Parts: sequence; C-alpha cells; structure tokens
Amino acid sequence: MTIDVALSELTPLLKRVHALGLVGELLGWDEQVMLPPGGADQRAAQHAAVAEATHAAASAARVGELLASLEARAAELTFDQRTIVRHARKDYDRATKLPADFVREKAAQGSRGYHAWAKAKAADDFASYAPVLEKNLELAQREAAYLGRGAAPYDAMLDKFDPGLTAVAVEKLFSELKRDLVPLVRAITASPVAERARAINAKLRGFPIDGQREFLREVTAALGFDYACGRIDVSLHPFCSGTGGDVRMTTRFNADAPLDALFSSIHETGHGLYEQGLAKEHLGTALGVHAGMAGHESQSRLWENQVARSRGFWRHFEPRWRATFPAQSAAFSSDELYLAVNAVEPTLIRVDADEVTYNLHIVLRFELEKKLFSGELAVRDLPAAWRAVSRELVGLEPSNDREGVLQDVHWSDGAFGYFPSYCLGNMIAAQLWYRVLELRPALEEEFARGDFSWLLGWLRENIHTQGRRYSALELVQRVTGTPLSPQPLVRYLRERYGAIYLR
Ligand code: ZN
Repeated sequence: MTIDVALSELTPLLKRVHALGLVGELLGWDEQVMLPPGGADQRAAQHAAVAEATHAAASAARVGELLASLEARAAELTFDQRTIVRHARKDYDRATKLPADFVREKAAQGSRGYHAWAKAKAADDFASYAPVLEKNLELAQREAAYLGRGAAPYDAMLDKFDPGLTAVAVEKLFSELKRDLVPLVRAITASPVAERARAINAKLRGFPIDGQREFLREVTAALGFDYACGRIDVSLHPFCSGTGGDVRMTTRFNADAPLDALFSSIHETGHGLYEQGLAKEHLGTALGVHAGMAGHESQSRLWENQVARSRGFWRHFEPRWRATFPAQSAAFSSDELYLAVNAVEPTLIRVDADEVTYNLHIVLRFELEKKLFSGELAVRDLPAAWRAVSRELVGLEPSNDREGVLQDVHWSDGAFGYFPSYCLGNMIAAQLWYRVLELRPALEEEFARGDFSWLLGWLRENIHTQGRRYSALELVQRVTGTPLSPQPLVRYLRERYGAIYLR
C-alpha cells in the first residue's frame, strides 16, 4: 500500500473519531448551559453512549493496520505526515489499552460527578462529595495502570492535557516562580495603592446585565472572535468548547462585578481564537488540533492579561464603556478605571483572582493533587489540607468548603492534572509577549486605535495553524528562542504591577 493510499483511508477514520468527540463536547456544553435538572440521568447515559462509540471508532482494528503500514515506511514520510502518524499512534494505543467497560464507566461517573459537585457546592457539603472524589481518583489510578503508567499516575494525567509534561518539570518551574512571586505579592498587597484599588473595585456596583452583554460582545468581536463561527452563553463556570466553525464560549453575569463577566469572556475569547484559527482543512488530525492545554491557556491569558489590562486597550475601549454605562461610569476617573482593571487583592476564589496572585492558586492545587496521587493525602483530609496551603500561599484561609476545596469543577469529572496548565499558560503568555514586543515595540499604540489584527495574525501564524506539530514547550522554544522559564512572567508582573503599586 502506498503512503498516499494509506493516509487517504486513515484520515477520514481519524476525522470520524474527532467528530464523535465533538458530539460529546456538545452534550457537555448543553449540560452546563441548557439542561433541565431532571435530565441529568439521561445525559449521563448519553455521555456514556457517545463515549463508547468514540472509543470503538478510535480503537478500530483498521486504524491499527493503517498505522502499522505507514510506520513501516516512516523514513519516507514528510514532517506533516509523521506528525499525523505519531499522534494517531498515541491516541490509538490509548484507546486500545483502555477497556470499553472502563471508558463507559468513566464517562458516566464524570457526568454524575459534575452534578454531585454542583449540589455539594450549593449546600457547602464536602462529605456528600468525598465518595465521588474517591471514585474519580480510583478511576484515574486505574486509567494510568491500563496505560502502563501505574508507577507514575500523576504524570499520566499531566500527559493527557500536555503531551510529555511531567510532575518533575512542573515542580521545577513552579518552585522558581513561587520563590519570586510570594514576596512580590506581599509587597504589592502591603502598598497603599492596593487599598485604593480595593476601594474603587468596591464601588463598581449596579452595572446592568444587558449593557454588560452588549459591551463584552463588542470587545470580543473587536479582538477577532468570529460570531458567525461561534457564540457566547451563560453557565455556572465559564468555559470554551467546540472548534473550527462552531466554538461555544460561556460567561456569567453579576451586576456588582462588571469586570468579572468582561474579563472571563476575553479569557474564553483567547481560547476561541485559537480554536477558530486551527487549519480547518486539517480538523480532526494532529495538524488541525491544538497543541495542549498549556498552549491553550497561554492564548486565553495573553488576551485577558497582557492585552486587555493594558493602557492601550483601555484608551480605545474606555469611551465605549462610558457610553454603555453613562450613569455608573461617571463615578470613575480614567486612572481609577485602570486601577480597578489591575486591582490586586488576595482572594479565596481562583476564578476571581487577579493575575498576580492567580498563580499561587494553581501552585496550591498542584501540590494537593500530587499528594492525592502519591497517597500522602486522603480525600477526607483534603478540606483541612486546602485550608493550610491556602493560608501559606495566598495568605487567606477559607471559612467554608465552598470557598475552599469545593470551588472548582475540574476534579468532579476526573480532570486531575489540568490545573498546572493554567500557570504554565501564564508563563508561556509572558514569554510570547516579550517576543511580540521585540518584533512590534509599538503594539499598544495599535490597541489604542482598536486594531488587534497584527497580534492575531502573528498568533495565527506561529501558534494556531501549527496544530500539534510541536508540543507547547517546543513551540515556546521555537518561537522565542529560549526554553520555557518563569522569569518572563515574573518580569512582566514586576513591570506592569510594579509601575502601579511600587512606585
Ligand atoms: Zn482557560
């Protein structure tokens, strides 16, 4: 069989697996946006059915035969063909090593886990959630064992979201970041300006939801999100799913926290721009799929932070903001608005955290996850451990589990190993940002004119359209010329926040 013949048979099989995966994602979107509470059990069954069909397609014997014939001629494959085959092999091995029963059980448990978490969080009832978490942990350990990584189950979890990532590598980056970040946070929060920022933030009240919706839609469209190929809705926990021509973002509104919906939408827009920027003709093979979650988070964080918290961005959007909220905005000067946008205040809640303290929330979760997987920490001891690490890192101790261990959705459907990608994403974003500024020193002037097209074009070319040709860490090295380091992030935080708080 020639390479072309094998690939032309393999490609539609891979695209079918991808399409079924997207059906599962759409069920998940609907579950968090539209589903009536009475539909939870049916949805669990639907998730299981789709997961089973996806698994069957992914582990079809014909995929294995075609891969073997392509691998036999590996030396003749082009770089792109090798990329497709390498990732397809990894996915195929994963699918064939996991028994169908296990895949079905895990999908149904994930859906049940989500609903159990939502209920437990609403009632601040960790005890009702603990058995779910224990079950999820057990399934994750079993999954790692099936994949032949039983000796390092947490690495197996990290590898799912960022191929090749290990706990040792994360630990090294995080400990360097923690060393430099904790004193910076202490200095900023002790500054008299921090007090002023908090007071201004406390005055941001009574912003009508309709206005917020209109404004964030205008902003996200201006950044480049294509609403003909996507939409934004409301959910409990903001997220972005889908890809290519159908990207679904969500946000949530609070009249007394107008910057929350705006910045979470800009964050999800960063994810959405990545998905909309993948090579459409390659959707479903490794050439048309994102490089991993750290790379994904780098895109969301770059737009949310480096771009949307800049002076240039607000020079353009402040007049629109004032026009949208004439009564509410009158109480704020331009400097006060900029300070509110860049307010630093340690908080118990990760998703409410400013970008300086945010990383410490991730280090907290990474440290606890690692201990859960090593057996050093039992699920029943998690709330107390959370309180202790929160006090140590964030400087605050939650008085209840809603503001502690129950705040995040991730572990409820077994997404262990996901959290580090947020902080790695921040590091990558800062490192990319300094490369961008080398190439385009006056970029903020373009933002001030409402022009974000050069930046988007650069990201499209260097990140989005690369698909999975390189891992996130390889991509950073290629694009910036140096390996990933926490130092650009520390430099960026010192420069932006030092100028505001430590003058
Ligand atoms: Zn994100």
